[in-house]
Amino acid sequence: MANQYIRPIIITIDGWSSCGKSTLARELASRLGFVYIDSGAMYRAITLYFTRHHIDWTDMGQVDRALQHIELSFHFNAELGRAHMHLNGENVEYLIRDLSVAERVSDVAAIGRVRDFAVAQQRRMGKDRGIVMDGRDIGTVVFPDAELKIFMTADNDIRVARRFLELRDKNPDITEADVRSNLETRDYIDSHREVSPLRQAHDAIVLDNSNLTPQEQLDIALGWARQRALAV
Ligand code: C5P
Repeated sequence: MANQYIRPIIITIDGWSSCGKSTLARELASRLGFVYIDSGAMYRAITLYFTRHHIDWTDMGQVDRALQHIELSFHFNAELGRAHMHLNGENVEYLIRDLSVAERVSDVAAIGRVRDFAVAQQRRMGKDRGIVMDGRDIGTVVFPDAELKIFMTADNDIRVARRFLELRDKNPDITEADVRSNLETRDYIDSHREVSPLRQAHDAIVLDNSNLTPQEQLDIALGWARQRALAV
């Protein structure tokens, strides 16, 4: 049952790193005919820009100037059926998935000015509703009035194993220990930062997908979405 029409609502999916948030968000959006936005890709693209241009992100003057030169946009790739992140017109979708970006992104995402820059754009993308956005602060800060908020979690070992398989395809030298250390560090920084830390919104529904197949979690989330879209 693809693209069954329902009232355009906002669906937020927050949670720990590598819980499968993007997979669920993308599928959910596609089934509902909504737009999917990967907010993490925006922080990753900003991090790539800072790294390439040797921006010292402890210096707020440098951060402010750099942000003025960053233009982020998503472009739908019809062949792959998904949007790709573009940084100043360049497709950086694959580059931003690198461990070198993952190792820096949580520090960059902890900067208040960087968050203001990204959040303003995220809110504009949701102005017509009909959107599924995943991240860390989407239900708490970006769209506190979202009709459906999902907080995703999964067993640590399962998350490490999933991300390891994904990254090993591109980088055969990567070890499971590298992946575990990156996930643990990011989760710690994301949930302990001063500005918009990762936390479960009081009105979010928890979805633990440790023992669920992608289809099972999609069916659960579709059920919630249809309920919320009907309730006015
Ligand atoms: O979702 P993903 O793992 O690609 O996000 C990369 C990083 O971007 C996260 O570890 C987090 O530091 C940051 N992020 C954030 N707020 C969001 C989305 C991502 O701080 N809404």
